[in-house]
Amino acid sequence: MKFHYDVAIVGAGPVGGYLALKLRESGHSVLLIEEHAEVGRPFQCAGLVNPDAMSKVSLEETALSIIWGARIHGPSGTPVEIGNPERVRTWSVCRKKFDERVVGKSIDAGADIWLSSYPEDAEIGPDSALLHVNKDGETVEVECKLICGCDGAHSWVRRKFRFGRPKEMMVGFQVEVTGYPGVEGVLDMYTGSSIAPGFFAWAIPSGSTTRIGMWSRPDLLDESSCESLLGKLMNDSIWSERFSQCRIVGKFGGPVPSGMLKRTIRPRIALFGDAAGSCKPTTGGGIGPGFEQVDIMVPDISRAIISDNHSEENMIRISKMLDPMRRKHRKAKALRDAFVTESTDRELDEIFMIWSKEEVIEIINETGEIDNPVPLGIRLLREVPEFRRVASKAAKALIWG
Ligand SMILES: Cc1cc2nc3c(=O)[nH]c(=O)nc-3n(C[C@H](O)[C@H](O)[C@H](O)COP(=O)(O)OP(=O)(O)OC[C@H]3O[C@@H](n4cnc5c(N)ncnc54)[C@H](O)[C@@H]3O)c2cc1C
Repeated sequence: MKFHYDVAIVGAGPVGGYLALKLRESGHSVLLIEEHAEVGRPFQCAGLVNPDAMSKVSLEETALSIIWGARIHGPSGTPVEIGNPERVRTWSVCRKKFDERVVGKSIDAGADIWLSSYPEDAEIGPDSALLHVNKDGETVEVECKLICGCDGAHSWVRRKFRFGRPKEMMVGFQVEVTGYPGVEGVLDMYTGSSIAPGFFAWAIPSGSTTRIGMWSRPDLLDESSCESLLGKLMNDSIWSERFSQCRIVGKFGGPVPSGMLKRTIRPRIALFGDAAGSCKPTTGGGIGPGFEQVDIMVPDISRAIISDNHSEENMIRISKMLDPMRRKHRKAKALRDAFVTESTDRELDEIFMIWSKEEVIEIINETGEIDNPVPLGIRLLREVPEFRRVASKAAKALIWG
């Protein structure tokens, strides 16, 4: 059996769903191919969706908590409290519902979806691409003008067509608990080499439960695992008392690919979201950047489909449209490295002592945006003299990054 579509999208996660919606809105026929029997399971996510990404899909009803503030803790315990209840900083959503509704919007717009299906092979020809798909145990052929890989961190499409690997592959682990004594609307972040080497741990309100997790890079973990380090935060750290009443009701873990691929599109194949390595280096968030990537690329991809211009030259031009996003992520990574990943606990404590001053918190509240830390970094360098001393590495990263 042979099916015909303009675009076949492998992977019905949030980015595949959003891409399908945008392509349908541009008038193309779209097929979503999802290996699982349902959308949104299993998921590996802390569930934070920033206001910009949320405004693109208007799915506020999937939020379990609205996050307006953060308590950030230095390795020795110095807390810095930021935020203002008047301003929503991010949404803590039910990922299952969020993914289902994003994909549901594309189906309402006319996209087809095959569940329990996955590609077995693919060929690229001069006039079309051919996917051999295992659909409910039977092999069928899908002929299309473009194959899109939205199939996550270990993307089959990326590996099949040898796109290379994202620059950094972090790992995260998370438990969902009851009994965490957090503040409504406020997330906690914990730092320190003994609990999240080079990165941080979190406790995020999610309705009646709290998601407690950490992330790091495999080369920084030595002999430990993310799971054992999270256990250390909860049972054997200066903050353990806070976790003493927690009861674990769920566990998740997974990779966080960051450092977007140099090429994300070639004749008749494109990669989006985790498959392209588009997670933010500062937060690990992948939904916002995945949506941003779709918005940047879809108008030109649509024109390429309509004019049937899948030339190498046109694809290089479309891939380059992501250069500003790549640059933004590179600068954010340079700041993250300078302040967190490459700082010793002593240096981090020094930074927290400065951040905890009232006048500095005011600046953080006015300009701080975890999704875009560069403007805050520049303002702190300009306005806080002690900061210049501890941040000389960061200043270099900002200038040369
Ligand atoms: C611990 C942890 C916490 C995180 N927290 C956040 C957070 O708070 N906010 C945030 O924005 N991001 C977070 N992320 C990252 C986020 O989960 C991903 O960036 C996001 O899910 C990427 O969406 P995607 O659609 O690109 O890929 P995915 O969500 O991975 O979706 C890929 C889809 O493709 C399907 N698929 C895979 N292979 C195939 C195949 N061969 N055939 C058919 N289907 C296939 C999968 O079943 C899945 O449905 C976190 C990640 C981790 C590990």
